[in-house]
Amino acid sequence: MSPSRKPVVLVVEDEAAQREILQYNLRAGGFAVVLAETGNEALLKVEEEQPDLILLDWMLPNVSGIELCRQLKARRRTRAIPVVMLSARGEEPDRVRGLETGADDYVVKPYSMAELMARLRTQLRRTHPAAAGATLEYRDIVVDCETHRVRRGDRALHLGPTEFRLLSTLMEKPGRVWSRELLLDRVWGRDIYIDTRTIDVHIGRLRKVLMSDGGDDPIRTVRGSGYALG
Ligand code: CA
Repeated sequence: MSPSRKPVVLVVEDEAAQREILQYNLRAGGFAVVLAETGNEALLKVEEEQPDLILLDWMLPNVSGIELCRQLKARRRTRAIPVVMLSARGEEPDRVRGLETGADDYVVKPYSMAELMARLRTQLRRTHPAAAGATLEYRDIVVDCETHRVRRGDRALHLGPTEFRLLSTLMEKPGRVWSRELLLDRVWGRDIYIDTRTIDVHIGRLRKVLMSDGGDDPIRTVRGSGYALG
């Protein structure tokens, strides 16, 4: 995904008034919003829009929120998307079930909009700091995910869009080993078929730019696994 676009939230809610309130507040909070009224519509929208977050109402007709969450978390292509579930107060046993189905967070109605926004941002920072518009730093490398400017020390570096996404992804968690499969998902998107060796080519290009002024190679190749920063 492009790090410059607004993070996309898919709102799954059957009640029109709730959808409108959520859409209004999410937009005001800097999110792009995609709406779905039913579980089946949500599954289609997830494929089409590749949201960064899913806000899922518990009470839906036909496919319940809980069942939808289970399906999303069972699919390789969707399981990394954070799901925040909304439910009515007084359903404690359901809360446990909600978390068991793999929901990443759980917000009880009535909730304050400020709290909901904060919870969504927490999920987003956890999974996509770059999408949250953060400035990422690792040693002498600075990546501004809002302006797309990259510096190493005093020098501005010019990266292609793929190399930019690769670097910002690696910089989200220095030290973490990213498998090629995970990098494919994060940098190229979940629906695109690309040979994993393509990643090696782009890593090579990224290294070349990072080391262009004689700096050391900050990217570590982990044999049989993938790549890490540091
Ligand atoms: Ca509902």
